[in-house]
This record gives sequence, structure tokens and C-alpha cells, in this order.
Amino acid sequence: MEKILEVNNLQVSFHTYAGDVKAVRGVSFELEKGETLAFVGESGCGKTVTAKAIMRLLQPPFAEIKKESKIMYQDKDVMKMSKKELQAYRGNDVGMIFQDPMTSLNPTMTIGKQIMESLMLHRKLDKKQAREEAIEMLRVVKISDAEKRVDDYPHQLSGGMRQRVMIAIALSCNPALLIADEPTTALDVTIQAQIMRLLGDLKKERDTAIILVTHDLGVVANFADRIQVMYAGQIIERGTAKEIFYHAKHPYTWALLASVPKLDTENKGELYALKGTPPDLILEMNHCPFADRCEYCMGICRETMPEETLVDGTHRVSCWLQHPSAPRVQSYYEKCG
Ligand code: SF4
Repeated sequence: MEKILEVNNLQVSFHTYAGDVKAVRGVSFELEKGETLAFVGESGCGKTVTAKAIMRLLQPPFAEIKKESKIMYQDKDVMKMSKKELQAYRGNDVGMIFQDPMTSLNPTMTIGKQIMESLMLHRKLDKKQAREEAIEMLRVVKISDAEKRVDDYPHQLSGGMRQRVMIAIALSCNPALLIADEPTTALDVTIQAQIMRLLGDLKKERDTAIILVTHDLGVVANFADRIQVMYAGQIIERGTAKEIFYHAKHPYTWALLASVPKLDTENKGELYALKGTPPDLILEMNHCPFADRCEYCMGICRETMPEETLVDGTHRVSCWLQHPSAPRVQSYYEKCG
């Protein structure tokens, strides 16, 4: 398989009056062509910041990507790109779909003009060609009556259609990588399913790699090839969708899985809620970030950061209970299966 993205030791801080918020703390991963990787975790875990860092959308003076961080797109060093190179990278190489299509689209411009803008800037099409291509892109994202809809303003479309337009803009330059940041959060459940199906179809047709950012494990179940669970700016568990859904080993991943609504009667309609709050990201962290909320917490968890352990296949987890010399905690191993 062809590797298209490599992120190494990504560290991002936000400068605030209270101190530097270390939002991403040494995240590393790779992505292959046509692969779908999901970043999962609760709000503030660093998943969106990681996605924005890949696009180099975080700029000083408020945000800082530390110089130790390395982001390689194919053979291009994203951290060293000039303004002009970044402009070509964002659009031609990587497209991004944002959370809320209503605020991401310009309300004063027709959707056609917004798609055309990207085509004229990145693919250097003239006005006529760009309009024809914009109509074609609306068809690709399955908007009916594309010739008429192209002259609509965003407020004339439903939430689901607006998100389709965002996908059309992101895909208009045929990028090899699409970053979808909570693409269905602002939509109702049936439209969510349609948008995920559309993304899945487009991925198959165009062999586009996708990074999907979401707090909802339910959304990635049938969609992602691999999943990275993030907590307090770090990846705490990663593996294939099967490894995470059926063989999760980290207590935080269990909590996330337990909070997904199920149709069986086991939870009698009540969803699991994890107690406590994530750690203060201003503080340095030399121990397990989940220690304060973990029912299996041991002395070492509060003293030393757990190393990432290879469990099986591609499945890795950062938890002291996976260390070869860890005590056999019966209840933990029973839950591991
Ligand atoms: Fe819990 Fe310790 Fe594992 Fe952290 S390292 S998840 S505190 S058992």
C-alpha cells in the first residue's frame, strides 16, 4: 500500500492567559492511500486540533505547532511549506469538510459560485468550465436538479444538502485525502446515515483516503478501516475497527463503547456516563492521563506514563495493565475477553 500521510510527534499548544494549553501531546500515525482512519474521543481530546494541524490551519500567535512535530504528505514536508505551497496543498492534495455547513458556507454567495471559486483557484478552470464542473459535482454528491440548484443560496437548502455542498467543494479538486471533522454532528439521524453512505461511496469510487473526526463511535462502526482513540491530547488505543469494537483493552475505550446507544435491552434505555472530567491540559503530564477516572488505577499509573504496547496485529494500547509485568487484575481481564 502507498503511504500518503505521516505524522510524527505532533505537539500543539494554545497560548492563553492562564498558561499554555497543550492540546496535542506527541501524536504519531500514518495513513495509506484509500484508507479511512477515524479519530475518536470526547470534546477537547485533541482530535480536531490534530486534523487542523495537518491542514496547517493553526497559526501563531494563539496556536503553535511545536518544531519537533513532523507532518509529511507524500514526499512534501507540510511544516516547511510556503504560503503558496500551502494554498495548493489545501484543495489539490487535501480537502476538508467542517462540522457545521451553515456557518462554513458563505450565506451571500450561491452554492455554485462557492464550488466554482475552488475550481478556478486550484484547477485554473475558466468561468464556463467551472460552472459546468460545479453542476457535475452537485450531481456527484447526489443533489437532484443540479442545474437549477447551482444558483441557490445556502439558506434555500436543507442541512443535509448544505453538507453535500461542503463535500462537493472539498472533493472538487479530487484530493487524495479528505478530512471530515464531525461531518454529521449538525444533522438529524436519517440524514447522518445518508451523508456517511455518500462519503463511503465517494471513497470507493475515487480511492480517497479519509480522516474522520468524531466523538461518536456509532458513526465509525461501518465506515472506518482503523480507529485511533484519543484522550487528553494523546492516542491511548488504536487498531482496526474490529480490534477496537470487539477487543478494546483501554478502560476509556470501554467507556466510549458503553456510551453508544444500543437496540438491545441490556442497558434498559439508560446510557453509560463516565464520571469525572479530563485533566487540565495546562499541566505537564508524566502519568496516565486517565488515572483520575479509571477504576483500575494503580500506584504506577499516577507516577509514570504507560508505554504503548502492541497487543495483537495492529492493535496497540497505552495502559499499564497491558505491561508484561502488570498484576493480573481479574475484573480487568474478564472485561478484556
Ligand atoms: Fe487505568 Fe492505569 Fe491503565 Fe491508566 S494505565 S488506563 S489508570 S489502569
